[in-house]
Amino acid sequence: MAKEYRLLLSYTEKPESHTIEAYESLGGYSGLRRALEMEPDEIIEEVKKAGLKGRGGAAFPTGRKWSFIPKDHPGPKYVVDNADEGEPGTFKDRELLYRAPHLVLEGMTIAGRAIGAREGYMYLRYEYLWIFPRIKRAIREAYAKGYLGKNILGSGFDFDIYVYLGAGAYIAGYAVSTLESLEGKRPYPRLKPPRTSQVGLYGKPTAVNNVETHANVPIILSKGADWYSQLGTPESRGTRLFSISGAVKRPGVYEFELGSLTLREFIYDVAGVPEDAEILGVFPGGLSSQILTPDELDVPMTHEDLEKVGSTLGSGAVIVLDRSTSALKVLRRAIEFFSYESCGKCTPCREGGNWMTRLLVNAEKRGYMTKDDVSLLREIADMMRGRNFCPLGDSAEMVARVFLSKYEDELTRQPVAA
Ligand code: SF4
Repeated sequence: MAKEYRLLLSYTEKPESHTIEAYESLGGYSGLRRALEMEPDEIIEEVKKAGLKGRGGAAFPTGRKWSFIPKDHPGPKYVVDNADEGEPGTFKDRELLYRAPHLVLEGMTIAGRAIGAREGYMYLRYEYLWIFPRIKRAIREAYAKGYLGKNILGSGFDFDIYVYLGAGAYIAGYAVSTLESLEGKRPYPRLKPPRTSQVGLYGKPTAVNNVETHANVPIILSKGADWYSQLGTPESRGTRLFSISGAVKRPGVYEFELGSLTLREFIYDVAGVPEDAEILGVFPGGLSSQILTPDELDVPMTHEDLEKVGSTLGSGAVIVLDRSTSALKVLRRAIEFFSYESCGKCTPCREGGNWMTRLLVNAEKRGYMTKDDVSLLREIADMMRGRNFCPLGDSAEMVARVFLSKYEDELTRQPVAA
């Protein structure tokens, strides 16, 4: 596509792109070679200078996150790759894991070198069971070539990677829950603070990063932070992978320089909207991002610009809804999802999600929400607001509030009798 900038995705294009031979032919593992010649602090500074922010949703600066890991800690310390993309509509990490696993493994190894860890764990979502053999094969290849294991490339640095199949729960993708699951427990979220950089996996300092975040690291090291930081905008550097689905002609995974196009251009010019489709709304960053109405789509796709319109780039999952569905059905389905995925630890999320679902199921059967439904839904959302232990409960109440503020007329409109 005219506006695509395939930086990470360029590693997915060759036939057999998942093999170490294909990866090396594109310069793979040159970032690691450079990192092994640098001091750990220099690697962290390089990643900071590049301006890389987390690609999982929170957009926290990666170099800063690594700098929080205590240097004088006797260890062990851990690297965790969060490959549990469970946000509805998100499937961009899958592309990297399946077609360019070495890019992710190399990024994890460089992260290990930077923070002084000797072990890395990839937490692969259970639904990606079919990718599991490919990751294991890539790990075996990396060991055979000396990119993993003892004394990597003669540097004296040791690093092992293990891959762990997730628990099949949405909440397990939340970093503090991921660690619980990795330890073999139910993925209930942990209280923060302490932060995972201080008390993480098995109580030790841990750097948890998303798949796409790790995949950017070898490129930053091989091409240099100065080169990388030219991409994007001052606040949103680099490229970003976006998955787009719903009412578009060409759903899939695309990569763009951050800020190089608006959401409307992405939807209409790149993915294409069927001629007879009328857009109802767009989730710009997964189900947990605030839905935008058709008149709000002229927003550049950056963290800062999406925040200005009250939403977020989130997990990079653009979900396009047209009027073949109704606002009431979308809202019911979203709330039902969050309620189903609630771990039950705290009452507002567990009970609130359940009551909102019951209310919306009844409204959908009727075909519209009554004024009483609207005020009760608002009351439940207000009751939940700020009283949840983790972001899942907040997402549920936020979705309800935003739909009421943007689509109240549609939600309460009675169907016209035929
Ligand atoms: Fe569990 Fe929901 Fe509470 Fe999160 S907000 S801890 S998912 S009950």
